[in-house]
Amino acid sequence: MNKPLELLEKYFGYKYFREGQYEVISNILRGRDAFCIMPTGGGKSVCYQIPALILNGITLVISPLISLMKDQVDSIRDMGISAEFINSTQNLAEIKEILKRCYNGEVKILYIAPERLESEYFNKMLRKLWISQIAIDEAHCVSMWGHDFRKSYRAIAPFIKSLNIRPIVTAFTATATEEVRKDIYNLLELINPYTYIGSFDRENLEIAIHKEDDKLEFVKDIIREKEEEAGIIYCVTRKEVDGLYKYLKDRDYSVAKYHGGLKDEEKNYYQEEFLNDNKNVMIATNAFGMGIDKSNVRFIVHFTMPKNIESYYQEIGRGGRDGEKTECHLLYNRSDIRTLEYLIYTTVGNERKEIEIKKLQSMIDFCESDKCLRNFILNYFGEEKSRDYCNSCSNCLKNEELRDYTIEAQMILSCVYRSKEQYGISVLVDILRGFTGPKIIQNNLNKLSTYGIMRDYSSKFIRDLIKTLLELGYVNLKEGTYSMLKLNNKSIRVLKSQEKVICKLSNDVEEKIENRELFNKLRVWRKEKANSLRIKPYIIFSDSTLIELANRLPRNKEELLNIRGMGAKKLESYGEELLKIINS
Ligand code: ADP
Ligand code: MG
Ligand code: ZN
Repeated sequence: MNKPLELLEKYFGYKYFREGQYEVISNILRGRDAFCIMPTGGGKSVCYQIPALILNGITLVISPLISLMKDQVDSIRDMGISAEFINSTQNLAEIKEILKRCYNGEVKILYIAPERLESEYFNKMLRKLWISQIAIDEAHCVSMWGHDFRKSYRAIAPFIKSLNIRPIVTAFTATATEEVRKDIYNLLELINPYTYIGSFDRENLEIAIHKEDDKLEFVKDIIREKEEEAGIIYCVTRKEVDGLYKYLKDRDYSVAKYHGGLKDEEKNYYQEEFLNDNKNVMIATNAFGMGIDKSNVRFIVHFTMPKNIESYYQEIGRGGRDGEKTECHLLYNRSDIRTLEYLIYTTVGNERKEIEIKKLQSMIDFCESDKCLRNFILNYFGEEKSRDYCNSCSNCLKNEELRDYTIEAQMILSCVYRSKEQYGISVLVDILRGFTGPKIIQNNLNKLSTYGIMRDYSSKFIRDLIKTLLELGYVNLKEGTYSMLKLNNKSIRVLKSQEKVICKLSNDVEEKIENRELFNKLRVWRKEKANSLRIKPYIIFSDSTLIELANRLPRNKEELLNIRGMGAKKLESYGEELLKIINS
């Protein structure tokens, strides 16, 4: 089997690479620099962590988020990868101790804060290491055009130059307008990097806009409906945060808050309460969230419309990092526009006022639009989709109507034909979207002419359409198998353009968690375990892993290993306890 896939399964417990990951990894392994733009939650870390495990020597990861470095390192250690971090929270003795372990070859991945590179003394110590890869996370910080410029990122290129042997340099970011991209390329001095630019689309985020007058009722409803799940409510002003926090707290909701006016220790306290699953709902201004890795945020509410689409998309991007369905609700009220205009006029410098007002106008257009909301956003970021319909935003679901899906149906049916009627829905989706997974590689499915032809459709859309085609008899399930698709006469007529497919798409809204009681038990176990190990709950397992456990009820260690997110080390650490809970 091929090495990256083997490690993905062994350490991370995943069977498939996501879009782009395999390509980035294999290019790094060939010794080439890489520049990787993927949306938040797209899975950038794996792209440098797997090469780190394979390459000889150590990988340095430069990351700007000191407060989260410990969590990042905890999380890969919990998978059995030897990692350390160095930042300003440690004293010299501790740092020397860590470096000693690095010199002894006991550490595969070392996270460092960029500020460290400004110290010549520290650089000298680093130069004694055998560095095979330097991975620069949040690479947009090097650019003044980006939204969080960090001066110390400019120390990276000189440091690399000072090394005797130039390591492979890899850069990762989720935001990259044209200017920022150029800056990253030039200022980090990447050499002919393999460049991967992923789609901005986050298809597990369900986008909804509500023209709501009674916002408080809406918020209470959604928190109640989500029971114990985690969510973030974004407000525009500190005052709004304080008010909503008090209102909900007085009514016994499990809430935390965060804004720039709180003292550092308050901010830390509330953030930790939220990250540790002690408080379910975070009420915050946009000051909250940069780099937050909590993967199980299940809903995002914008209590007030944000001031531009960039902020909006970044904020909803903090939801559903584990790839599970996440609801994003924006409460739109025209009277909020005045507040935002006022904020812009009073807080933004003259030279930027006009730009900010324009951006606000796009945000208003978005809220007033009656077309696909997802496409609106993607177009805004310069991405064109061939279909003006996503089936998972409030406009698409509202405007549900008959549409012509003949072309898409032809792509799907021809893929069933080319792959010799040997596969079920999930593999077909992977082929059509051009994903890389063991089944794909082993069976040479990436050589098919239909490989990747639906690259710019979402997996959900393709799945929904296949299910609709099945329901309407445009294709059948093969008898005796429960999942392989098989063409019939109607399929052939569609393929020959003798028949059109005009229908409404079915929307897959079935409850994903079949055994909620067990799921809740597992969640309680995860929280207690995390407390005793002093790590964050989501570091132990993501929600998607718990959902699979609750749905598939594995009976032994072998079956446990088949669960997504269950690597060898996790099995060793938690396997027995999980089986006990599941069997009881
Ligand atoms: P990013 O840095 O791009 O925002 P992360 O690297 O933090 O994203 O990954 C987001 C989540 O996706 C993590 O929970 C990670 O474990 C998960 N993930 C990464 N790669 C895969 C994969 N191939 N299959 C399933 N989940 C994955
Ligand atoms: Mg990341
Ligand atoms: Zn839509």
